[in-house]
This record gives sequence, structure tokens and C-alpha cells, in this order.
Amino acid sequence: MSVQLLDGKSIAADIRAVIKGRVDALRSAGGRSPGLAVILVGENPASQVYVRNKRSACAEVGFYSEMHELPATTSQFELVDLIDRLNADDRIDGILMQLPLPDRIDEAAVTERILPTKDVDGFHPYNIGRLALRMPLLRPCTPKGVMTMLARTGQPLAGLDAVVIGQSNIVGRPMALELLAARCTVTICHSRTRDLAEKARGADLLVAAVGRAHFVPGDWVKQGAILIDVGINRGADGKLVGDMDFAACSGRASWITPVPGGVGPMTIASLLENTLQAAELHANMTAMEASGNPGV
Ligand code: NAD
Repeated sequence: MSVQLLDGKSIAADIRAVIKGRVDALRSAGGRSPGLAVILVGENPASQVYVRNKRSACAEVGFYSEMHELPATTSQFELVDLIDRLNADDRIDGILMQLPLPDRIDEAAVTERILPTKDVDGFHPYNIGRLALRMPLLRPCTPKGVMTMLARTGQPLAGLDAVVIGQSNIVGRPMALELLAARCTVTICHSRTRDLAEKARGADLLVAAVGRAHFVPGDWVKQGAILIDVGINRGADGKLVGDMDFAACSGRASWITPVPGGVGPMTIASLLENTLQAAELHANMTAMEASGNPGV
């Protein structure tokens, strides 16, 4: 059986085209464009690149977007004040606060300040809780993008043994919740996991989100497994590589994501989907208020 490539770049381009069509239709009907506010605190070069890519994706699909670049010296009070203003701003459907934040700022407290219906990153405890209860609203972008890619394989996921390596709040944990909701049997591995290689070898579906180049060697891969490489690492030659040894792992897999061009573009596509979803939520909430219906 030869391996098939899960081409995130092309799937993401399809998604952007669909979103652009929806935005054009919304505008033609007299509605406003979905709006995204991006907050960047400090001058982390990697964050600056991520933010630039997200804003240019917004421009491509016709979203309104605005950038709030704050100095590294910004206080938590000032950041919360900005979030409060964006929460109250009717042009803004989504608030994206680029992480990491400077150490002085309590990331959890600030994340929780964002209105759950504007939390297009899907990191608010309300949105994570809804995902855990199988009633998702705004879903974390990277795991959501992975689920969209998995759907494109046409392979049924129910009953698969899925192993997720990495347990971060933004990737590993919500990834495990997504796969559980898809009725996989999920094992979450992390830096204290024993016999990691054995666990990985049992996986029909293996997700690596560790942040170490070539961490997963070919002999950890079950024959025919679906491999999702979330890792983004810069190699000694300056090129981007994933957490999996692509050449060795792809020889045993049925499907594999490349790095770059795999999960990365899907994360941005999911952000656009979430922003459109948030705009639709806000339009419904406004319509319900206007009709005197308090909603739920
Ligand atoms: P993180 O550092 O927060 O988490 C890494 C996880 O790996 C931790 O849970 C840790 O327990 C686990 N780990 C570390 N060493 C391990 C070991 N020896 N054995 C088993 N587990 C081990 O990182 P993160 O934010 O979850 O990101 C992970 C990777 O994914 C990074 O390379 C990051 O750049 C990338 N990433 C990519 C996207 C994308 O869109 N493609 C989005 C977010 C993150």
C-alpha cells in the first residue's frame, strides 16, 4: 500500500474559497464583513510571522481585521482593558490574542476575559468545556484543522486506536477531546509517559505535537497508520521540519501530513471558519434581541 499525502495547503485553499463566497454573499445581502481583532504583545519574531499570515488570510477572504500591537511592557490591566473594549465592539466577531504572552501576564486570566462567543482560538474554558461535553461551539483551531483533514481521507475514525503525543492546552488536550468525540479510543502521551515507543506502535492514528525535530522514528509506526505531524521545528539548515521523520515514517503509513504544508495552513483555515461562525452567532443574537427573544 502506498502512502497518501494529506495536503493541508490545498485543503486550506478550498476552505478559504468557500469562506470568501460566503462573505461575498453576506456583503451582497447588505450585511457586514466578519471582523477579527488580533492582539500581539511584545516583539516575538515567530509570533509576528504567525500574525502576519493570519491577517493576510483575513484579507484574502474579505474579513475586516485590525491589529493591536502592544509593547512588551504592557500591564495586565491595560491588556484586559483592550479586551473589554473589543468585547463591546460590534465590528469585532473574533479576538485573537497571539500566545505566548510575557511571563508577567496571567495567560489564563486574560484568555478567560475574552467573551466565549468571540474566542475564535477556542481556548476559553467555556469552549474547551463544551468540546469535552461533545457540544462544541468554537473549537481550538489546530485540532479542528486536523479533524477537517481526517474527514478528507474518507476513513471512518470510530473505533480506531488513536495516540496523541503532547498534552498542551492548545494542541494535545483538545486534539484528544476531538478524537474522543469522533469515537476513537484515545491515549494521551507526554514527557512522563513510559514505553512511549510501544504506545505509538499500537496507534492506527498517531498525532505528534511535541516540538522536537524528527522525534518519531519510522519504527514507531504501525503499518498502515494515519500520521498527523503538528510539530513545526527549524532544522540546522534553516528549513522547517516536523516532529516525525517524514522519510522513514511515510514508508509505513497509509496517510501522512507534510511539514510545511500540512497542519499549519489548516490552523489558519480553522481560524477563518471560527471567525465566520462567530459572526453568524452574533448576527443571530442581534436578531433575537431585536425580536424580544432573549435566546438561551
Ligand atoms: P508544548 O511545548 O506546549 O507541548 C509539548 C508537549 O510535548 C508537552 O505536553 C510535553 O509533555 C510533550 N513532550 C515533550 N517531550 C516529550 C517526550 N520526550 N516524550 C513525550 N512527550 C513529550 O508545545 P505545543 O504548543 O503543544 O506545540 C507542539 C508543537 O506543535 C510545536 O512544534 C509547535 O510549534 C507546533 N504547533 C504547530 C501548530 C500548527 O499550526 N501546525 C500549532 C500549534 C503548535
